[in-house]
Amino acid sequence: MPSLHNVLLIATYLLNLCDRLILFMAASQIETQDKPTVNESRVLYDGAQVWKVKLRSREDIALIQELVEKEDVSIWKLLPKKAIILVQMDNKPKVRRQLSSQGLRHTVVETDVQRRVEEQKVEPVAWDDKTLRVGKDKTQLGHRMIWHKYPTVEVVQEYMNYLTRNYPSLCKQEVIGKSDENNAIKMLTISNGNPKNKGILLVSGSHAREWIAITSALVILHVIVSQFDKQPEYVRNKDWHVIPLLNPDGYRYSYIHDRFWRKNRKNISNTHCKGVDINRNFGTDWYVTGVSEDNPCKELYGGPHPFSEPESIALRITVERLIRRRVVAMVDFHSFGQLILYPWCARSYPSRDDRVLNATAGQMRAAILEYKGRYYTAGRTYDAIYPATGVIIDWVHSSGIRHSYVIEGRDRGDHGFLMPPAYIMEAGQEMLIAVTRLAREIDKDFIIVPRSKLHWF
Ligand SMILES: [Zn+2]
Repeated sequence: MPSLHNVLLIATYLLNLCDRLILFMAASQIETQDKPTVNESRVLYDGAQVWKVKLRSREDIALIQELVEKEDVSIWKLLPKKAIILVQMDNKPKVRRQLSSQGLRHTVVETDVQRRVEEQKVEPVAWDDKTLRVGKDKTQLGHRMIWHKYPTVEVVQEYMNYLTRNYPSLCKQEVIGKSDENNAIKMLTISNGNPKNKGILLVSGSHAREWIAITSALVILHVIVSQFDKQPEYVRNKDWHVIPLLNPDGYRYSYIHDRFWRKNRKNISNTHCKGVDINRNFGTDWYVTGVSEDNPCKELYGGPHPFSEPESIALRITVERLIRRRVVAMVDFHSFGQLILYPWCARSYPSRDDRVLNATAGQMRAAILEYKGRYYTAGRTYDAIYPATGVIIDWVHSSGIRHSYVIEGRDRGDHGFLMPPAYIMEAGQEMLIAVTRLAREIDKDFIIVPRSKLHWF
């Protein structure tokens, strides 16, 4: 006869087994949920490499542009002195030949692109009502955000929901619009409720493949919300409006199908190509011949007309509303290049706020340098990198928000879009340092410019 003790042991063992089975089933269910719902194949980068090419002249830039035009390479970054390019396996000998025929040298900065792509993604983890309850009495839902892998669209939203539920006196969440594929575009506002607060708007994820920009906005949310009382006065006296994922369709596509997708996923009539570059779809200086791309198959395609995309419209309406709620600054996060940029992007002459913009961008640059010694470059977009049209920061600036910046985060091309997820927290902290310095600066001498005076822009 088995003793009572043994019966209990066997029962506990069976219960444990049962629990594991339930967890396993939950995990497989999530795996199924996270799989693509659309029947589109994955783009693989087996054998592809990332090269850094030193440039010396206009002829060198022209050669890179020619390689892009012939689709021998895709461009990650093209600056006056260097290009970062992705070269598919089969094209390597040809591209190498062409570069060396013009005396151009390159270094391989990433030898195995597909492996890096796989390493960045999160493993589906068990998630049901029981497994992630939090709080003293386990009554509240948790989240699956871990800070050493990039989150899926669902996890980004879970995390925003979690903050809203668990810090109700600080956080308010709203859906500011729906994407082309009907995904919610969400904004979380952190505020101590003082109606005199000025506001700062932070946006990220307009470009799908710039994952580190998206997690940086999440790190900022995480730190400000969870340590609100420890923040300096100039952080606590602001309303922080954060849109971490402006382009959820593109990000989902980048996560599941093609890691280096940039645009949204809009179907364009009369072509097999998809997608509009949201950050070329805004109404200020939209489409300038010779600068803009009018071809839907190109990465910088700005759409059939300004504000043709639901994502751009959602941000436009939000900005117009926030201006009335004392929002005085906007930062749009991107990657990569370590640049702090301000308007204009499409005009060769400075904004009339150039002095203030330059000084504030310089302050953000200094704050990052003081933090851990990392160098960023600050400048006007048109001069610092290249002319760009229909850009968010130009439209925001011309709409009356004087402080309007892009921060292109880490790095300068060694990892580029493939920033290892181990740096999520560190890179996010760097962006936090920059925007908190901005929060300090705008308290100094801010004069509200009446909108009517900005009409000549
Ligand atoms: Zn970008």
